[in-house]
Amino acid sequence: MNSTNIDNYSSENAFTGKVALITGGATGIGAATARHLSRLGARVVITGRRADVLNDVANEIGGVAVTGDVSTEEACTRAVAAAVENYGGLDFVIANAGITREGAIDVESEDDWNQTMDINLGGVRRVALAAIPALSERPGAAIVNIASAAGLRATPNACSYVTSKTALIGLTRSMAYDLGPRGIRVNAVCPGWVATEMLEMEMSGLAKEKNLSVDETIDRCIRHYPLRRLADPIEVARVIEFLVSDKASFITGIALPVDGGGDMVDVGTL
Ligand code: NAD
Repeated sequence: MNSTNIDNYSSENAFTGKVALITGGATGIGAATARHLSRLGARVVITGRRADVLNDVANEIGGVAVTGDVSTEEACTRAVAAAVENYGGLDFVIANAGITREGAIDVESEDDWNQTMDINLGGVRRVALAAIPALSERPGAAIVNIASAAGLRATPNACSYVTSKTALIGLTRSMAYDLGPRGIRVNAVCPGWVATEMLEMEMSGLAKEKNLSVDETIDRCIRHYPLRRLADPIEVARVIEFLVSDKASFITGIALPVDGGGDMVDVGTL
């Protein structure tokens, strides 16, 4: 039997003594998760491409910043090594770094397709590969991959994004099978629209195309959601907290929507 932490189940302080690595930790969902897990007692290593913002968040939470691109194996290995060297091991990986590109299959460039796949899918695989040896040594180890509601239900004009996030759900299930016997749980969260830089960029593009203001565009999108609003990044961070915690000790291989109950809006109909 794998060792689990069922007996050690506790509330918020469960993360004291835990070490988390978060990719794309400088902004949005990644930064919110870094702050949240750190508040709950975890030691946190964040990695990303933008040294200045990365260092600001790391200083704020008393964590470690590792500048690097998940497109390279070297950066992923260095991030895991930073966790082990600074904090003595690694318990959780939050594979959050991602990009979005616009375009239908016959519009999107080959470069955009390749880059999206390389970061959204390849980056998750690379960081997992680097982390598996360290995670295997810790009871209650867990990985959370940040997929998307777009990976559960397609959305228009985002061919590589939809494909990468759909494949990421498959990768999550495959990892859950292969790593479960080693005591590592692997799950995905699938956010709907979350108020981050990525969403701002997407909405600006859409607003221009539809000749609307960004606020009007957001309003038109969220009216299709039962909860009628965007998510705050902390609302995704709290679900990540649940999935890595011992409260989820018998959950692996799921893709959990965190989408305000909404269906993907066909932005073509805005
Ligand atoms: P964001 O742009 O604020 O965060 C993405 C982070 O990933 C940034 O800090 C960015 O610098 C980093 N990153 C990008 N490419 C990288 C690379 N090659 N190496 C290292 N870091 C890299 O946006 P966010 O909304 O917080 O996105 C976080 C994750 O959530 C992404 O995977 C995104 O696809 C997913 N997501 C977001 C939404 C949304 O509405 N915001 C919805 C569904 C899924």
